[in-house]
Amino acid sequence: MVRNEDYGIDWSWHDAHGFSRMVNVAGTMTAVGGSVTSRAVADATAAAMTRFVKIHELQTRAATVIGDLTGAEAGFVTASASAGITLAIAGCLTGLDPAGVEALPTDPGPAPGVAVQMGHLCEYGAPVVQAITLAGARPHVFGQSTLTRDYQLDAALDGASAALYVVSHHVVDYGMMPLETFTRICHAKGVPVIVDAASEYDLTGMIAKGADLVIYSGHKFMGGPTSGIVAGRKDLVRAAYMHNIGIGRGMKIGKESLCGAIAAMEQWKTRDHAAIRAAETRTLDMWAMAVEGLPGITARALPDPTANPLERLRIWIDREQAGASAAQFSVLFGQLDPPIAVRGHEAEKGYIDLDPCNLIEGQAEMVRDALPLVLGQAGTAAQVEDATALSDIRNGGTQSYLDWLG
Ligand SMILES: *Cc1c(COP(=O)(O)O)cnc(C)c1O
Repeated sequence: MVRNEDYGIDWSWHDAHGFSRMVNVAGTMTAVGGSVTSRAVADATAAAMTRFVKIHELQTRAATVIGDLTGAEAGFVTASASAGITLAIAGCLTGLDPAGVEALPTDPGPAPGVAVQMGHLCEYGAPVVQAITLAGARPHVFGQSTLTRDYQLDAALDGASAALYVVSHHVVDYGMMPLETFTRICHAKGVPVIVDAASEYDLTGMIAKGADLVIYSGHKFMGGPTSGIVAGRKDLVRAAYMHNIGIGRGMKIGKESLCGAIAAMEQWKTRDHAAIRAAETRTLDMWAMAVEGLPGITARALPDPTANPLERLRIWIDREQAGASAAQFSVLFGQLDPPIAVRGHEAEKGYIDLDPCNLIEGQAEMVRDALPLVLGQAGTAAQVEDATALSDIRNGGTQSYLDWLG
């Protein structure tokens, strides 16, 4: 048994409120609260709670900090990256026109299209296409899931007010149009490019490659409270922000999260990225050693698929030799006390990944000790049917909503 007392982890908050303890090596997942913030970010959030402040002033400060980080002319903060996509599109549809703002989503204006390549229509917890249609825009989907050609984008821009480009490990990773080509073709037709870079570390590259608006999550690598960052051309940022008096009302960010997001962005500039990376590398080495020599198990640190500066430990599980499948073992990790959420969404390919980015003190060691224990319990893991475990990975998110209060 992995004994909780051995790691000095403070579970008092969870225990006092009766919430499940949780070790997250799956990544920044909304279902477990995004990320964990630093004390400074938490304090900045709390400090705003007991005061009134002009939201426009906070957003002006955010605009400066966002400009500083991204090289963009301006920016603002909203409820989430998903909200940021919808507001960015809304801004491109209407410009700085209050009547146009109030007309959405029913009347998206004379050019309601948003060009997007089919291989970018991913699911990030919700369908990206819905972030487009929420604004009243019409997706002009071009190309096929595995290949897009330049002329297809050119044609899709007719009747379009914006084009959306998604940078993510969720999208098809070959046959897609590079961002530089995408912006060149769009700009030739005067159509602005919106980049969804919600989960990317690269804060300057998209603007540098010609993006007109870029969206980041505040609660992923940035380590802020739940929030979305919109950066880009000043005219479009102002237009997108204006939708707070329209469809963006339900996507608004409060003073507390605004202050937390600003603190997280400021912290990003001074954060010792090299030291954090080194600590993550040590954690991965420690985990790899813990599974070395286990039958049917091979582990190796792999770079992030979109070249974010981090590695994850991939653990390949040979079902015959290990006695159970990757999906079956990932279920077993989730049944520990505390549950360890592993990155199992590609388990059908025979591996799970461990993400070192969101660990609280003591948790890396707990995971190290849990690894050989769980992977040594093939008999227990095999009690869950493999097909059921795989089906749960695909359908579990939806099922959890069907079950909630059910
Ligand atoms: C996470 C993610 C989103 C959604 O981000 P939220 O801030 O949680 O709304 C959108 N797009 C991509 C590519 C993502 O990874």
